Amino acid sequence: SFRQYCSPQSLPLVSMPLTTGEFEVFRSCARNYRRKPITVRLKYLSALEEWILENLPVIRKALSDDLGKPAMESDLTEAYGVLGEIRHARSRLPEWMADQPVGTPLSMIGTRAWSCQEPKGVCLLIGPWNFPFLLMVGPLISALAAGNATILKPSEFAPATGRLLTQMVAAVFPADLVCVKEGDHTVSEQLLTLPFDHVFFTGSARVGKIVHAAAAQLNASVTLELGGQCPVIVCADANLEDAARKIVAAKFFNCGQACVAPDHVLVDARIFDPFLNILREQVTALFGDSQQIEQSPDYGRLIHRQHAERLHKLLNDALASGAVLRLGGISRPEQRFMAPTIITGTASSMRIRQEEIFGPILPVEPFESLETALLESGGQDIPLAVYAFTRSRTNLELIRDERRSGALLWNDCAVHFLHPGLPFGGRQGSGLGRAHGHAGFLTFSNQRSILKQRIGWTGIRLFYPPYSRLKRRLADLLLRWF
Ligand code: NAD
Repeated sequence: SFRQYCSPQSLPLVSMPLTTGEFEVFRSCARNYRRKPITVRLKYLSALEEWILENLPVIRKALSDDLGKPAMESDLTEAYGVLGEIRHARSRLPEWMADQPVGTPLSMIGTRAWSCQEPKGVCLLIGPWNFPFLLMVGPLISALAAGNATILKPSEFAPATGRLLTQMVAAVFPADLVCVKEGDHTVSEQLLTLPFDHVFFTGSARVGKIVHAAAAQLNASVTLELGGQCPVIVCADANLEDAARKIVAAKFFNCGQACVAPDHVLVDARIFDPFLNILREQVTALFGDSQQIEQSPDYGRLIHRQHAERLHKLLNDALASGAVLRLGGISRPEQRFMAPTIITGTASSMRIRQEEIFGPILPVEPFESLETALLESGGQDIPLAVYAFTRSRTNLELIRDERRSGALLWNDCAVHFLHPGLPFGGRQGSGLGRAHGHAGFLTFSNQRSILKQRIGWTGIRLFYPPYSRLKRRLADLLLRWF
């Protein structure tokens, strides 16, 4: 039942299209699943956890095949990211699912009201290639916890992980509750013709717009987790070594292919030169010197040759337009390798400063005054996160007020992704809606309002026609005081 097609790396499977009839089977499964007690949801979450713990070596192998991910990186970012979400959801699910009573204002006297969370129904998850396991299974946990049937469309550029997801889902879930549809954009396009209740998309801003428009045709609600372009601001009072180590770790893990990776660094001009030296030292401390990095088991690879060539050109164009190479620069697109690279002297007119870099190139630029730097960058797209390194609360508050973003981190980069208590997501160009933990549960739930009224006399009846003078006076009292 599968046909094959060519991708840049290997031959991933393309699943058969989902027919309207098959979709209806999912819908009726969703109707059954929503009526099941909480123990059923908890059972699936536990079964998923168990499968992941038993299959860690297989997950590492798939991620190594797709992205050359070091085993430790797979465990900490992809497997633990998901396990942490499962445990967080399992322990809080009773609280999240409980009805929320609301108080009764005087104007509503005689009523009782509460809100409850109901599953949306059948949800579609479309994923990217950079964290192909985490970014498919993370939203799946929220969708399942909220009681939905779910269809996953992983990225065609991480075929080993796509296949692994298919195996995992077949082993853990009934086929009409969760299924995986592998293949390229044509598979997403076909799926987006079906009447899903919610579409959760993680990927580029360009495709996000296409998915948003398709979801509008379905009247489906939508979550968009899009591009990062996260700036780092290093103030003069920062601990330079601490800041440099954190920036290097967050920029160069997964070879810079993370939506939460630092995109560029703005550094107070007074500490620019010493900071640049420390930044270079930290690259060597974490990944070895430039001769060793290519052999280092701790440094990943770019996803495919086309992406490696894009980065190669981005770097060379910047250097040709006057940027200065400060570290690295070795790039072998045919091997999908690019060394950790630091450049300075970039201008905002250069492509490298306009596009999301999404690779191991780090532009570092000085600023004379924090206020001016913030003012100049304030007009840009809203990033997923802003990372501020400073000891001063005043600086932090200035950055918070002047630079909008989905998240603000004080003295670290990227780690908020792994905090299940924090809603995760962007604004405008970096996304729409929130994921993770309780926010993820709410994303996949409809908040339903329930109101119980008395039979017979009610407060509202005082205002039914005919409108007497007494009712007029009551209405005046209501307008003025209640
Ligand atoms: P992409 O947009 O190219 O692809 C994402 C998914 O969309 C894939 O499954 C792909 O098959 C599908 N797709 C492609 N064209 C489509 C179309 N016309 N209609 C419907 N579906 C289509 O993104 P990518 O290259 O896989 O991932 C990289 C991007 O994802 C970066 O911009 C990165 O910042 C972003 N990202 C964001 C987050 C986040 O949480 N905000 C996380 C990871 C990656």
